[in-house]
Amino acid sequence: MINISYLYVESELKMTIAALSTPKAAGGIAVIRISGEDAIGIADSISGVDIASMKGYTCAYGKIYDGDETVDDAVITVFRAPHSYTGEDVVEISCHGGIYVSERILSLLYSRGAEPAEPGEFTKRAFLNHKMDLTRAEAVMDIISAQGSAYLRKAENIREGHLYKRVEELRHRLVELLSTISAWIDFPDEDIPEVEDDTLKKELIEIRDGIADIAKCYDSSCLLRYGIDTVIVGKPNVGKSTLMNALSGCDRSIVTEIPGTTRDIVEGSVRVGDTVLRIADTAGIHDTEDIVESAGIERAMARAAKADLVIAVFDNSEAFCDDDRRICDMTAARKIACINKSDEQDLFDETLLTGFDDIVHISAKNGDIGSLLDVLESMTIETADEFLINERQKICLDKAAVCISEAVDSIGIVTLDAVDIVLDRALYHLLELTGESVSDTVVNEVFSHFCVGK
Ligand code: GDP
Repeated sequence: MINISYLYVESELKMTIAALSTPKAAGGIAVIRISGEDAIGIADSISGVDIASMKGYTCAYGKIYDGDETVDDAVITVFRAPHSYTGEDVVEISCHGGIYVSERILSLLYSRGAEPAEPGEFTKRAFLNHKMDLTRAEAVMDIISAQGSAYLRKAENIREGHLYKRVEELRHRLVELLSTISAWIDFPDEDIPEVEDDTLKKELIEIRDGIADIAKCYDSSCLLRYGIDTVIVGKPNVGKSTLMNALSGCDRSIVTEIPGTTRDIVEGSVRVGDTVLRIADTAGIHDTEDIVESAGIERAMARAAKADLVIAVFDNSEAFCDDDRRICDMTAARKIACINKSDEQDLFDETLLTGFDDIVHISAKNGDIGSLLDVLESMTIETADEFLINERQKICLDKAAVCISEAVDSIGIVTLDAVDIVLDRALYHLLELTGESVSDTVVNEVFSHFCVGK
């Protein structure tokens, strides 16, 4: 039998929590969310609206009061348990989007007994109240942080239960096998047909391969999530930094700083259309006796060798030289040659370029980089139907697959009791993935990455 266990503290769910669900910044509207047994009573106590008699899925316009003083006008929406995001009574107060106004309303709610919500606590409650499994809950944060439509679609699929259903199918087959094995072990005198080793092995291998297929898509999921690992290389002064800046500034791209920037490798994340690139601008590659410079060049070469994409920059106003040859010889999964300074006199012989998937002409200084953007935008990341959004999910699948492989290898060598124990462990890891058997440490870790108010 599957033991569904959530090791959380019951009293945690008894508290009524409140938090600002919109960003803490001035804006048109701010939404304050309250969830828990006393959500309706607490909200009722600070508003002029008779919230206690409102039905679920209704809203009303009214005022928020601090004693006799009016704090703000608000629209109050009521969701009655279990038909709410968290599965509990929920009240949402939409007030004017001022930082002071929303903080004042929040402190009123706290003074009436609500507790400040922790990061992700509303979604955590939805999970603990069985409104969604852990994979669906994890997808919520990925929807919020999605940077492109491809990733958003995948995260939406998981939130709709695509991953859960795939894992449940495989788990169901494993449970059926386990029940047959257990029946045969526990009731040897009954007329239960013997489990044939070959049949058992065949079915287990199919289940294991199904699990491994899902785990395999983690790499392409990471590419979509974190972006294509891209390195800009070239001789000094060809315009690498200018290109990096142009990519940052162009209206088809968005750049965010990646912390941990090293002295000679500057990194940033750029989105071009639906393609996200993690770009590193490296030290200029050239022949030098300088030890410090050489070390920087070594690092640049090593970084490029590991990259998914190399953007090599050449100077249109200079003749092709040995350093350019060195750059042509670098190997990478995909290489784009950018002949920069197209606004200057053509002295560069591009027929000497070898090993590139694309050659484009740009003027980074003038922001004329459209041909490069077109190539970048057209790069699509091949992703399987399956999709994983984090390493936790992959680890659970890997562990389950390893247990099943162990079981397959031991069939015919050890007793079925021993095989049964290993398969139980595989089942545990699948339940851990969906959160149906998971420790509070794992649950807390998952939700600690959420924002407050979600
Ligand atoms: P890096 O050493 O490769 O990073 O080169 P920089 O980006 O620092 O640029 C070196 C010089 O080339 C600077 O003076 C830039 O203004 C100039 N530069 C960069 N891109 C262009 C371009 O498209 N056209 C022209 N004419 N000059 C450029």
